[in-house]
Amino acid sequence: MLELEEARERIFALLVPLGSEKVSVSDCAERIVFSDIAAPLDLPLFDSSAMDGFALRASDIAAASRDKPKELKLVGSIAAGTAPASAVEPGTCIRVFTGSALPKGADAVIMQEDTTAASHNPFCILCFDAVKPWEHIRLRGEDVKTGTVVTQRGDRLGPGNLALLSALGLGQIEVCCKPLVGLVATGSELIEPGEHLEPGTIYESNRSMLGRLVYQAGAITRRYPLVPDTLQQTRLALERAFGECDVVVTSGGASVGEHDLVKKAIEVMGGQLQFWRVAIKPGKPFVLGRLGNKLLFGLPGNPVSAFVTFLLLVRPALLRLQGAKDVDLPSHAGELIEPLVNRGDRRHFLRVQVDDKGKVRSAGVQASHVLSSLSMANGLVELPPDTTLPGGAIVKVLRWQF
Ligand code: AMP
Ligand code: MG
Repeated sequence: MLELEEARERIFALLVPLGSEKVSVSDCAERIVFSDIAAPLDLPLFDSSAMDGFALRASDIAAASRDKPKELKLVGSIAAGTAPASAVEPGTCIRVFTGSALPKGADAVIMQEDTTAASHNPFCILCFDAVKPWEHIRLRGEDVKTGTVVTQRGDRLGPGNLALLSALGLGQIEVCCKPLVGLVATGSELIEPGEHLEPGTIYESNRSMLGRLVYQAGAITRRYPLVPDTLQQTRLALERAFGECDVVVTSGGASVGEHDLVKKAIEVMGGQLQFWRVAIKPGKPFVLGRLGNKLLFGLPGNPVSAFVTFLLLVRPALLRLQGAKDVDLPSHAGELIEPLVNRGDRRHFLRVQVDDKGKVRSAGVQASHVLSSLSMANGLVELPPDTTLPGGAIVKVLRWQF
């Protein structure tokens, strides 16, 4: 039986990266950057006004005040999106708006609120306050300078990254390919939700859950028909999934019973069983198989075991396969408001509920078939073997989505 970290390292060592593709920036959310991207432009692109107001020379109004306003002659107007047609000469100003290009000769902008048009002449602007040189001006390149690396290989792109890449004028960028993940649920007892139940059968629930988790890991799912527990059927299903997908994820049939056929099917197909069993609870009977360059993650059938092993072992592998630097689950500190107990001899990943103040409680019964607590949970807390954590203890809460 492997420790979790060892299992992860063994998996990482077997991953073969999938390459890259060019994708429009607007379609790149959550994609992983294939190589460093340097800014092709300065941001801002040019000196511009940060306010609606008047571009002027700061020295012209250095002595302006409420009681002794300074008068400037208004000589033009620059709407955002137009090039300045004239320059600011001493004693003059030009109307500007947020984002207007700064006219030549100007070295500051006064806010509209600190001015008024003289009653005798609308082309005479009264300034009621001084401005410092370069006040209310966005300087070219103050945000990003040409050549600066703005996203690095392995970064996962969020909405802010997309805004920056778009502002730099990048239409398409190179991102890592998404793995296609075949989802195969095994078990003669399983029935498609919505169909007729026979005595002793149950509705299949792992593929919908795993499909969502695959999506959250940035990969694509292909969902296969249910597979009864025969070696022939299991083998056929796996051959099809290996033929069509980059990664195969099975659920069920990974344990020690005579109907647990995933390990055997890998071997009769000519693949290798890389390891079996990881020292965690839930999720001990996890299987790693390989056929050629491709991996099979054989998750236990119990839904909570499938959930936990996916998050701890498959999610990081899918992210790493896409070239991601950061493959750990997001986590934060929380405070227990009740004790948590692990009497077993394996590390236990307990389902918890954490509120918006970071208070953590058990999500309910922790057995690995219990779906009500899984559905209530929004975090996992790891408890070492033979451990009781008292109320008030600070714990690390693992999340799958914020
Ligand atoms: P197994 O790992 O095949 O021994 O299955 C362990 C338990 O999980 C059994 O009670 C199965 O009926 C149940 N199970 C297996 N696969 C699924 C599934 N896809 N959906 C719901 N329950 C499942
Ligand atoms: Mg089974």
